[in-house]
Amino acid sequence: MKIELIGGIEGGGTKFVCGVASRDGEIVEIIRFPTTRPKDTIEKVISFFKPYVESGNLKKLGVGSFGPVDTDHESPAYGFITATPKPGWSNTPILNILQQALGVKVYFDLDVNAAALGEYRWGSAKGCDPCLYLTIGTGIGGGYVQNGRPLKGLMTPEMGHILIPHDLKLDPFKGACPFHGDCFEGLANGPAILERLGQPGENLLDEHPFWEIEAGYIALALTNYILTLSPRKIILGGGIMQREFLFPLIRSKVQALLNGYVASSLVTEGMHDYILPPGLGDRAGLMGAVALTLIDQ
Ligand code: ZN
Repeated sequence: MKIELIGGIEGGGTKFVCGVASRDGEIVEIIRFPTTRPKDTIEKVISFFKPYVESGNLKKLGVGSFGPVDTDHESPAYGFITATPKPGWSNTPILNILQQALGVKVYFDLDVNAAALGEYRWGSAKGCDPCLYLTIGTGIGGGYVQNGRPLKGLMTPEMGHILIPHDLKLDPFKGACPFHGDCFEGLANGPAILERLGQPGENLLDEHPFWEIEAGYIALALTNYILTLSPRKIILGGGIMQREFLFPLIRSKVQALLNGYVASSLVTEGMHDYILPPGLGDRAGLMGAVALTLIDQ
């Protein structure tokens, strides 16, 4: 008997997660392996999915990839990982390679867009349209789902690079972004913590005074997203957000910054349920890749 299965790939800079799931999001099989050179990595991906394709059960595959990527259907480089500093990966036509090797339809997007979609379909933002997913870790990036699909425009939004107030008296660090210095990512990502304090965020105790500053930057960025994008739910993932005590701190700072201006009860009374960790945990990326294949094209 043929059963309809969907393939998903979370293509990360350090690891790849491949999985096969049902339309309802139930995972049948999952594997993880480190990201090495493109040829070896993609060969592993192909050999994982091949038996499912050959049995006739798998006809669709979604890829949520680390960036930068070209997601413009009209562009000759659509489905490429473009100018990445990751050795060997620059200008890799990952969509074409997979499509040719496996003969299935491949859907492609940036990893944060996929994760946002996964959380919208099956996770903490289920049924909340529009919603925002933000990852805060080595990099900072956001995916915004509206009308059931990730927002696309001039480019894939780069929400980590927005400019936020920077009080140099409180935090004299000049910022770590090579393009903007003290943009949100330049002030609040993992490398910025390491450069500023001489130790990685993982080593900082919960009581370290820097967390107050970190939560402040995140709250400023979220306030800007709330006022411009009006999400019904905000999901915060990524390595830094594993520190759960940051959530209540961020919620109360967002509340203070909004100062009653946004009258929705989602924010005034429901803040504890408005800014949340990913419901899919470390499967958000993979499930998001599966969800990419379920958008009406
Ligand atoms: Zn920047």
